[in-house]
Parts: sequence; structure tokens; C-alpha cells
Amino acid sequence: MKLETGNEGRVRTETGSRQRWEAWRRVRSEARARCEAFTLVPLCSFCLRARTAAGEWVELPASVLHLLARPTAPVRPTHGLCPTCRDTRFLGET
Ligand SMILES: [Zn+2]
Repeated sequence: MKLETGNEGRVRTETGSRQRWEAWRRVRSEARARCEAFTLVPLCSFCLRARTAAGEWVELPASVLHLLARPTAPVRPTHGLCPTCRDTRFLGET
């Protein structure tokens, strides 16, 4: 095994870091573009109520829930926890 010493090793390390940095920026940019292509709607993981932009948790008809499950839907569900389920399931309050 050849050990690298001096500036050659340093240059190689910086080049590798720059390539990793550029690869990470490319992945981040692609992820942002995918996220901007649709709107995320928090759904309570227990009762499936949806949080509105105003912060209210409302029930959605089953037909709307099915639409959210489509991979091409412009609105996508994301995990959430409504205050009612938080209090009853995690804090033990009734
Ligand atoms: Zn809930």
C-alpha cells in the first residue's frame, strides 16, 4: 500500500471533498425541485384528519384521502399528529 505524503495527498483530499460537496448540492437541489412540485398536507397518523393552513384539523372524505394517495397528486400527505390524538394517545388525557 502506497502512503501519500505532502501536497499531493492534500490536493486529492480537497478534490474528493469538493466532488462530495457538489454531489450533495445536486441531490439537495433535486430534492427541493421535487418538493416544490407538490404541496404537503399533514395528516394525523391516527385519525387521518388533515391540518389546514390556518392550523385547524379537519376530517376529509374518504374520496379525498384516496386522491391524496395517488403518486401524481399535486397535494401529498405527510405524517402529523393532531392535538386530540396527542393528548389521548400520548399524554393519557381524555
Ligand atoms: Zn388525530
